[in-house]
Amino acid sequence: MRFDLITIFPEFFAGPLNYGIVRRALETSLIEVNVQDLRVFTRDRHRTVDDRPFGGGEGMVLKPEPLFEAVESLLGRSVGEAGKRGATDSKTAIVLMSAAGKLFRQETARRFAQLERIIFICGRYEGVDERVAEHLATEEISIGDFVLSGGELPAMMIVDAVTRLLPGALGNEASSQNESFSGDAHINVSLEPRTTSGVALDFPHYTRPAEYRGWGVPEVLIGGNHAEVTKWRLAAAAEKTRRNRPDLLVRE
Ligand code: SAH
Repeated sequence: MRFDLITIFPEFFAGPLNYGIVRRALETSLIEVNVQDLRVFTRDRHRTVDDRPFGGGEGMVLKPEPLFEAVESLLGRSVGEAGKRGATDSKTAIVLMSAAGKLFRQETARRFAQLERIIFICGRYEGVDERVAEHLATEEISIGDFVLSGGELPAMMIVDAVTRLLPGALGNEASSQNESFSGDAHINVSLEPRTTSGVALDFPHYTRPAEYRGWGVPEVLIGGNHAEVTKWRLAAAAEKTRRNRPDLLVRE
């Protein structure tokens, strides 16, 4: 899997790429990451990437030309109408990070993990000239209902979420199957009402000490009865989903 990150702050990614699962995936060449400085694709003395908005108003907008040229240089060809279905090869996505995009979810991460290449466009300022969403990006994605100051953190979050789904990225393969949002059918069975997407949150985890400041851990987890442990975990996951994320439950 190859990730390209188009940004005006290329140094931004040095930290996040350097830890844990993502770092190991880089070291073992499971993923390749290319950080592309947008300013390389400017032609003026000031290396201008932004300009004032047509129609007036606050702030600056990222210009289309450097973004189109950056993507075309990465792909080695003209994109034409990349945004139109069929114009790019189906194994490559060009993802515009945008607070006004479609919501990124675990199922999006699973779909992205099937691709060979993802090119991220990280916005800044007031955002990005809309022709990038219309004619260059194959997807416009938001990571949540809040506004950040740039697309770098959102893009890095997607790199992380997708990388840990790649076969071989996690030490223990089972751990990306039985976690929050990962549709373990057993957990959903014990949820009443069911969740809209057929997924629940992860169950609570405990480790030693068995008693801390007077707070114990559920007896059943210490008992060694695996069937009982499974039953408890299903019920606890269901309870936690009801308590923390009632929005995931089907409304009657
Ligand atoms: N004016 C825009 C916000 C611009 S924030 C609006 O109101 O929607 C500047 C950049 O940060 C955006 O271009 C985008 O790339 C990034 N960004 C901010 N919030 C984001 C979010 N929730 N998801 C993905 N990218 C986001």
